[in-house]
Amino acid sequence: MSWAIRRLSLAVSRYCGAQRLFRLWSKGPTVLFYHGVEKKILDPAVQGLHIPLRLFERQIAFLRRHREIISMDYLYESILNRYELDPRQVILTFDDGYKNNLHIVGPLLEAWALPFVVFISTRHISESRRFPTYYIRTAILHTEKKSVYLRSMNKGFYLATREKRLAAARTIIQVAKRAPLELVEQIQADCMSQLTSEKWAELNARFSSDEPMSWEDATQITSMGATIGSHCHDHCILHVGQREEEVHRQLAKSKAAIEAHFLECKYLAYPNGTVADISSVAYSAAKSRQFRMAFSTILGEVTPDSDRFLAPRISADREYEEFCYLLNRTGRQNQVYQLVHSEFLQQNRACGRERAQTV
Ligand SMILES: [Zn+2]
Repeated sequence: MSWAIRRLSLAVSRYCGAQRLFRLWSKGPTVLFYHGVEKKILDPAVQGLHIPLRLFERQIAFLRRHREIISMDYLYESILNRYELDPRQVILTFDDGYKNNLHIVGPLLEAWALPFVVFISTRHISESRRFPTYYIRTAILHTEKKSVYLRSMNKGFYLATREKRLAAARTIIQVAKRAPLELVEQIQADCMSQLTSEKWAELNARFSSDEPMSWEDATQITSMGATIGSHCHDHCILHVGQREEEVHRQLAKSKAAIEAHFLECKYLAYPNGTVADISSVAYSAAKSRQFRMAFSTILGEVTPDSDRFLAPRISADREYEEFCYLLNRTGRQNQVYQLVHSEFLQQNRACGRERAQTV
């Protein structure tokens, strides 16, 4: 089915009320996650984590018309006090801590008095440091070389066409997402060395969307209704390949830095957040560090059966009709969540036994 036909059929099924049938399966609130919002997207291949302002405004208008946007604290209190969870409720979250959250998202949500959570990576905030995926994509798409060799990966890539460049960037990002933190830093350095500092200055100015907030910005955004949560110190993906001490360092450092600025750091979003990105060590550490809740990117609604430390979230980075469709059928994801969750707990128990045997 072509994209235009799919969009038309989704619009028709929404207008005629057919999508409302899916709502029968809904059992609880939906936690949505975004990254950034930009007035204009210049290159979607580089700025893929940001959505256009016009789309964001339409999505929020849909939520204001058909749902109730609540604060994360209200959701937590509802779970704690066993209030009946309302499937109409939605919680807005933003990962990474981009500056456009302050300049574009904050004023808009403040005008409508809508609460939201921004999950920040504290090192990127402290050092005004962009994320490895930005450097990889930008370097590979914008180097003048027709091929590159990355020593950190011991691998060369041909970059003769845009398709080859996109494929190379995807491959490098996949490797980086599964690598220990030290290797991620080497891959990033390798990619950065493919362009001159003048070229980086030019591209960073062009793609200002990927600039992180400063601590001052983070303070300012809290006055607009944001709660600041942790997204680790280095945006470190907490998969089984990370050292146990590194996982604890990531959570402890980011939590302490946020508490130093805002007194509290109650919520965590695991970077990348799929079930493969959350080791049993990370899951236990999130519990022992006394976060109130820790969010994954596993699809589903927050129901009385959801795990507070592997809480589901749904990506909102999508075209308007796809967004409405997804919002209407969140209840259909709950079965998948239960399955993924029980597999995760089984693996978790197995890892716990292995660790106990090796101690
Ligand atoms: Zn992230």
